[in-house]
Amino acid sequence: MSQNSHKFDVVISGAGPSGSKCAEILAKAGYNVALIEKDTTWRKPCGGGVSSRIFKYFPQLRKINPHRIKSIGMYSAEFDELKFSWESMRDDSIVMDRLELDTTIRNVAVDAGAHLFDNHLSYDFITKQGKNIGIKTKNASGSEEFIGKIIIIADGMSSKLAVKSGLRERWDIHELGLAKCAIMEGETSLDKRCIHVFFRPYKGYGWIFPISDTKFNIGCGTFEDANLKFNLNHIYEEFIRDPHIKKILSGQDYKTLWSAAYPLPAKGVKKNSLYGENIILIGDTAGFVSPISGEGIHPSIVSGKVAAETAVKALEEEYISKSILKGYRRDQNINKIIQNFKLKRSMVEFFYENDGENLSNMLKLANQNELFRETVVNMFLFNAAPSKEFFAKIKSFAANN
Ligand SMILES: Cc1cc2nc3c(=O)[nH]c(=O)nc-3n(C[C@H](O)[C@H](O)[C@H](O)COP(=O)(O)OP(=O)(O)OC[C@H]3O[C@@H](n4cnc5c(N)ncnc54)[C@H](O)[C@@H]3O)c2cc1C
Repeated sequence: MSQNSHKFDVVISGAGPSGSKCAEILAKAGYNVALIEKDTTWRKPCGGGVSSRIFKYFPQLRKINPHRIKSIGMYSAEFDELKFSWESMRDDSIVMDRLELDTTIRNVAVDAGAHLFDNHLSYDFITKQGKNIGIKTKNASGSEEFIGKIIIIADGMSSKLAVKSGLRERWDIHELGLAKCAIMEGETSLDKRCIHVFFRPYKGYGWIFPISDTKFNIGCGTFEDANLKFNLNHIYEEFIRDPHIKKILSGQDYKTLWSAAYPLPAKGVKKNSLYGENIILIGDTAGFVSPISGEGIHPSIVSGKVAAETAVKALEEEYISKSILKGYRRDQNINKIIQNFKLKRSMVEFFYENDGENLSNMLKLANQNELFRETVVNMFLFNAAPSKEFFAKIKSFAANN
């Protein structure tokens, strides 16, 4: 083995939420883990909104006292509003600056014993007799090789390794969401404990998530066929200048502290691409982002955890093979996510029909009928599947109004 070649039990490419969670669990189980990251100073373009479920996976977050959120305002394209507060529930959702969130989560993995290789860009596999046995990386001083019994690909949306592994193809533009966001600072009349989500008249949504008393994350995006019909910069400008948004952000001058655009998977988990002989795809790389809402932090962490547990099993049995790694795909939490995303996908066309008319009527109806309102809240916030009557009610409301 050359000086630039390192041997590990598991090599993980990408130290975002999914890769870091995975590394933490493997390191805690006593395995030698390389966590390869291209740049720990990169802030992932993201709204940074996460449900309280994250505390189960990262109780450490309580200590840094993240910005807590107690309610949501959902708006249709016509700006019908539905508010819901979870004040009485045990835990709050949070909004975090992704740089801080990712650094915290990554440090948990490092504290557990994972070896972090920062400023290492993974670009290819090391192959031996037709099998991928490790990852090649580039850094300022040249290239390095990381050999592992198991390779985990967690380097996000634009993962080249995922495609090179042969497990999945490059994303098609219709499988994606495209979003632009910014962190802004300034005085607002915004309820600092409320996140706002704005459905648009095309497949897309906008958001305003407060991060602190003076800072907020604002963004919007498109998905699927709307990606080709709308210019992202244009709809972003249109969104932040909309009179309804101006009413919420009533201050005069907002300073943009940071802004960026990035794609995200929009069609759910690539369930047939999750594992190979000794490779597992997790997080965004494998499509763990909820269609419609774009929520991906929590599902990515779950995928990282389950992948790690599956890898531990394989390493304990000293038998790394597809038949063991399929335990990842078969896990009940992964299955639950896949089913939930499938349900969300099946509602997209209905909601966005006629420039978001059904979404608009859904919110109107929810404001008139308490039981219906509960169904809407349970569906959007707690992943409950609505009945067939739910859709029929929206249609009949449209017919009668
Ligand atoms: C604009 C936008 C807004 C979003 N808002 C939300 C939100 O509010 N709430 C929510 O839950 N989800 C949101 N998401 C989705 C969420 O950001 C992702 O689902 C989540 O970050 C996935 O985590 P991950 O670890 O799989 O991937 P990532 O967070 O993308 O992490 C991948 C890591 O791999 C590293 N990397 C990439 N390439 C390489 C390479 N070649 N070599 C080494 N390292 C590499 C990256 O630097 C990064 O650290 C949003 C997404 C976008 C694009």
